[in-house]
Amino acid sequence: MSDFKVPFIDLQPRYAEERDEILARIDRVLSLGHLVLTQEVGEFEEAVCRYTGARHAIGVNSGTDAILLGLWAAGIGQGDEVIQPPVSFVATTGATVHVGATPVFCDVGPDQNIDPDRIEERITSRTRAIMPVHWTGRMCDMLRILEIADRHGLAVIEDSAQSMGSRQNGRHGGTFGLAGGISFHPLKNLNALGDGGMVLTDDDAVAEKIRLYRNHGLQARDDVVMFGINSRLDVLHAEVLKYRLTRLDEVIAKRRANADLYRRLIRAPEVVIPAEPAHHEDSYVMFIVQAERRDALQTHLTAAGIQTLVYYGTPLHLHKAAAGLGYKRGDFPVAEAQCDRVLALPHHQYLTADQIGHVADAVNAFYGA
Ligand SMILES: *Cc1c(COP(=O)(O)O)cnc(C)c1O
Repeated sequence: MSDFKVPFIDLQPRYAEERDEILARIDRVLSLGHLVLTQEVGEFEEAVCRYTGARHAIGVNSGTDAILLGLWAAGIGQGDEVIQPPVSFVATTGATVHVGATPVFCDVGPDQNIDPDRIEERITSRTRAIMPVHWTGRMCDMLRILEIADRHGLAVIEDSAQSMGSRQNGRHGGTFGLAGGISFHPLKNLNALGDGGMVLTDDDAVAEKIRLYRNHGLQARDDVVMFGINSRLDVLHAEVLKYRLTRLDEVIAKRRANADLYRRLIRAPEVVIPAEPAHHEDSYVMFIVQAERRDALQTHLTAAGIQTLVYYGTPLHLHKAAAGLGYKRGDFPVAEAQCDRVLALPHHQYLTADQIGHVADAVNAFYGA
């Protein structure tokens, strides 16, 4: 257990609550001798289609693979440019590089998501796709992004790793573009026992390619129609995810209530919490604020028994791995300024109102608010 009075996440109470159900499911699947791509995966895929409204959902090994396979199935590769924000987990850019394409960064807005007003100035004759990231589960303005993509004939591949259950105008994250990649990493709202992911798409040809590619290009046991990889969603994960999907709305409702309470209680004007736009329902995988004197605030909160994390202090274009892409500090001023201010507060479905009150009091006290 965490030594913090308010831990950042709490996987132990989650397991305590779900233990009987999960162990029974694992026992049932193992007793049946089901191990690889048996019916549990297909059942979970169908359940995700029903939940999100996507026509196809294809279970894969991770969110990273889901994004990579989405790009790959869209035909994006060598010589192609993919516009994306420098505020994300590194997988967005890593997946782009590993299909052979070139990531082209585009600054973000105050909400930390790609700024639709700046996308067009990043388009060149080589641009093939836009990859918006719904950071922290906060939806990008997908209607505007789709409109820009349509106007320029670009594909949209969503990094919807964090947006399972997020909606704009009632439509789910990951279902706006040609494909969307979802992550079931243990720290996401819908989480497997380890790594897992899924591609959402309405496009039959894209779905067919990804189904083949995730499983060695095998049409049948002895019929290889293309060379693929091994990126299957494991059966035990799928079985557990089937159960957890039935509880996802409950998880998101709790997280949204937590976020509301934080917003009401944090008074210090030095702390900026982007508002949720009308017609958005964000899932709050994380609760990230932008705070003046962030590092000192973090030290103060740690002393008060509150565990926080900087998510992340370095924008993607300034990592060592990006050196060859030719960016420098100053290229994306909004993202860079945010990276000096972002702080993720404890945020999970087992937080109590008292704990949230304790965090807010400590934040307000730090600024004398
Ligand atoms: C978690 C995450 C990924 C990667 O997902 P994995 O399942 O860990 O591979 C990609 N992009 C974003 C924005 C993420 O948060």
